[in-house]
Amino acid sequence: MFIGHFAVGFAAKRLAPRASLGVLMAAPLFADLLWPIFLIAGIETVRIDPGNTVVTPLDLHDFPWSHSLVTSLAWSAVFAAAFWAATRYARGAFVLAVGVFSHFALDFVTHRQDMPLYPGSPTSVGLGLWNFRSATMAVEIALFVIGVAIYARTTRALNRRGAFALWALVVLLSIFYVTNMFGPPPPSVDFIKYLGITGWLFPVWAWWIDRNRVTRG
Ligand SMILES: [Zn+2]
Repeated sequence: MFIGHFAVGFAAKRLAPRASLGVLMAAPLFADLLWPIFLIAGIETVRIDPGNTVVTPLDLHDFPWSHSLVTSLAWSAVFAAAFWAATRYARGAFVLAVGVFSHFALDFVTHRQDMPLYPGSPTSVGLGLWNFRSATMAVEIALFVIGVAIYARTTRALNRRGAFALWALVVLLSIFYVTNMFGPPPPSVDFIKYLGITGWLFPVWAWWIDRNRVTRG
């Protein structure tokens, strides 16, 4: 899944308004933020394989550290504990724990059976929504619209930047999503690695949005 993960970050603001959107966004994206690092380090691998599912041209056969069930639970605990240690905001830590784990849950729905239970696990799971392009888009776009709407109603812009930064991100993600759904497969694995690393800019952008907005009421 792609923009569905962002939806979780946006919606989380309602549940943990004192946490920055930056960290709320980093949580559901966390597995995909780790993934390019692990690819570059050679800990995980990926193969370009057009037709692997209808939606993705990637053979995601080897990403057990970023994307397995057990490591997802571990990242969730580590992420929440680090936030709690830094802020003592227990509610925020709980929401972040759920946010990090939501990545596995959403990917479980979308991926074919390529999500391992743990590193080295012979069993991989996935419901395969990615075999259906329209259904994938319907689910993901609905999640995204709801998530953005929740964030936009939970906060209001303090200044012009607060409105611009939010809507610019929404437009950019929409363009990326359409490109991702209908564009050509990536030209190389290196391209995937280094494009993936730029994903770290999204939580920074989200933090910038949140700095220029305030919780309503
Ligand atoms: Zn993922």
